[in-house]
Amino acid sequence: MAIDPKIQAAINKQINHEMTAAYNYLAMVVYFDQINLAGFAFWMQKQHEEELAHASKLFKYLSDRGGVVELEAIPKPSAKFDSVAQVFEAALAMEQANTASINSVYALAKEMNDYATLSHLQWFLDEQVEEEKTMEETLGLVRFVGDDKSALLTLNNQMANRQDEGEGAGG
Ligand code: MG
Repeated sequence: MAIDPKIQAAINKQINHEMTAAYNYLAMVVYFDQINLAGFAFWMQKQHEEELAHASKLFKYLSDRGGVVELEAIPKPSAKFDSVAQVFEAALAMEQANTASINSVYALAKEMNDYATLSHLQWFLDEQVEEEKTMEETLGLVRFVGDDKSALLTLNNQMANRQDEGEGAGG
């Protein structure tokens, strides 16, 4: 069954959201590189790659359904942050906005009785629960560490251990 143009437009918008998130995470890599927190930079690099994978997954889905992928412009991200905590506040806000965005695509697919899209989006809904949880936990840790530079360096070392998705705990 051909994909509805409204769903196609919503998925194209979501592809742009994922690419925008990817680009914003890359800007966070820039920030961590600048302040020499290599573990945090590595962690954010993985996050960046995850978002690229999300965009690719939607790209492939739309293409598999015979839809037309339209790539829109990605806004310029800011790499200016005042603190590590501020980075994770921004990351959490971004994930919350992305959850709302996926929810709206889901609601549209539900309204249009597009069961294949609902099924595909299920994975994204589950992923968003993970993403928000991870950002909340990390923000909590960063706030707990506060001004303790020694503890921040320990956390920086831990962040360097992030595994690729599906390879272990803590994605
Ligand atoms: Mg994503």
